Amino acid sequence: MSSEPTLGPVEHADVVVVGAGPGGAAAAAHLAARGYDVIVLEKDRFPRDKVCGDGLTPRVVKELLDLGLTDEANGRVDGWATQRGLRIHGGTTAMELPWPELDDWPGWGATATRKVFDETLARHAQSRGAELFEGVAATGPVWRDQTESRVAGVSWRDGDGREGQVRAPVVVAADGAGGPLAKHLGSPRRSERPMAVAARTYYRSPRADDDWISSFLDLTDAQGNLLSGYGWVFPLDDGTINVGLGLLSTSKEFRSVSYRKLLSSWATGLADEFGTTEANRTDRVRSGPIPMGFNRTPLHQRGVLLVGDSGGMVNPFNGEGISYAMEAAALAADVIDGAMATKRTSDLDRYDQLLRQRWGGYYTLGKVFAELVGNPQVMHICTTYGMPYRPLMELVFKLMAHLTDRSPSDTKDVIVNTLQRLAPAA
Ligand SMILES: Cc1cc2nc3c(=O)[nH]c(=O)nc-3n(C[C@H](O)[C@H](O)[C@H](O)COP(=O)(O)OP(=O)(O)OC[C@H]3O[C@@H](n4cnc5c(N)ncnc54)[C@H](O)[C@@H]3O)c2cc1C
Repeated sequence: MSSEPTLGPVEHADVVVVGAGPGGAAAAAHLAARGYDVIVLEKDRFPRDKVCGDGLTPRVVKELLDLGLTDEANGRVDGWATQRGLRIHGGTTAMELPWPELDDWPGWGATATRKVFDETLARHAQSRGAELFEGVAATGPVWRDQTESRVAGVSWRDGDGREGQVRAPVVVAADGAGGPLAKHLGSPRRSERPMAVAARTYYRSPRADDDWISSFLDLTDAQGNLLSGYGWVFPLDDGTINVGLGLLSTSKEFRSVSYRKLLSSWATGLADEFGTTEANRTDRVRSGPIPMGFNRTPLHQRGVLLVGDSGGMVNPFNGEGISYAMEAAALAADVIDGAMATKRTSDLDRYDQLLRQRWGGYYTLGKVFAELVGNPQVMHICTTYGMPYRPLMELVFKLMAHLTDRSPSDTKDVIVNTLQRLAPAA
């Protein structure tokens, strides 16, 4: 017998959140903590996997700390591990770059499988008072009237074929890269914005207790041809490593390559160092899209706020999307709170404006970066000539990981912040 709550045919809430990935769960947790009635619909059931590298940068660690998940953020709970920084491999060289020491960001990163990570966040949102309904998929918006100028909630269907509505004046669409709800609103992907596809799998490994996450900049196919993308090895707390690679949409192999075969052949080349043999592989290779640089806009329309991958918020420099989903969720909660207080729904437009102010310039730089490294020779030249210079690599690391202080004391932070400020907002 299940103790799960059941949705009635018509339910009412202050906010309905679609999707309980990191974006949806964080939004629900922030809103519920402020006393709002929040209903979250998640089409899958936890624990569930999500194709990912499982890498949590200091930006994610900060979000976890802000939510009060201190033990998880510090790797003091089973399933969670922390690391000191990034070991970057280019050609025959490797360099260890510790996560920067900053006032605004923690100085460490973490890893957790998405089975563990997403369920932790979802249960946390519940513990703060959000009502989570698993195995319930949103099927489309419910409109306030026939003009379709304002949303009034969402319709849903569960695994038994039951259907109903959750009525709410505000909808948070945190339903992932496919953006099903955004599509209902007529928001297509912006094809001029970068995208990536990445694949990952898991291996038992003697290197699972590594203190560093690794990235590999000189990615080649089985014939030794350079590709524009990068590979990673992220150690996990369960004795395995997450091994994956991604290619940018600006690369010529983006659509033609078999990601499964590419990952298998690339991982075989790492076997001596990381134990990535077929015998040690513990999962199949799975791939997924990575929507970058605000590739779906507007981020608010008619009472629906796009959070995370549904708004294409992944960092084009490094493929990191979890923190951007969680940070956007925290901002969405602030803006919704403000609009509820003034009772002016037009105040929700601030969400789009504030996000573009915050990341727009950075994403414009990321778009230029993606276009440049679409030619793998550019990446090769950069790694060959840049890798020997530690101060240069530290600057590039801060830029690519988007980690600087707002009031900087370090010249590298000043350079990165100035570049972001000067770039026109995406
Ligand atoms: C191979 C790969 C590796 C990656 N590695 C990293 C990494 O190491 N670090 C990092 O930071 N980012 C990484 N990313 C990106 C990261 O996975 C995403 O940016 C992140 O998951 C976005 O979170 P989200 O909450 O917006 O969406 P998601 O995590 O996709 O969550 C969306 C949720 O919505 C649910 N949903 C969808 N449709 C409906 C519906 N109709 N009704 C109800 N629920 C619905 C889904 O089941 C899901 O639970 C990687 C991506 C890929 C593909």
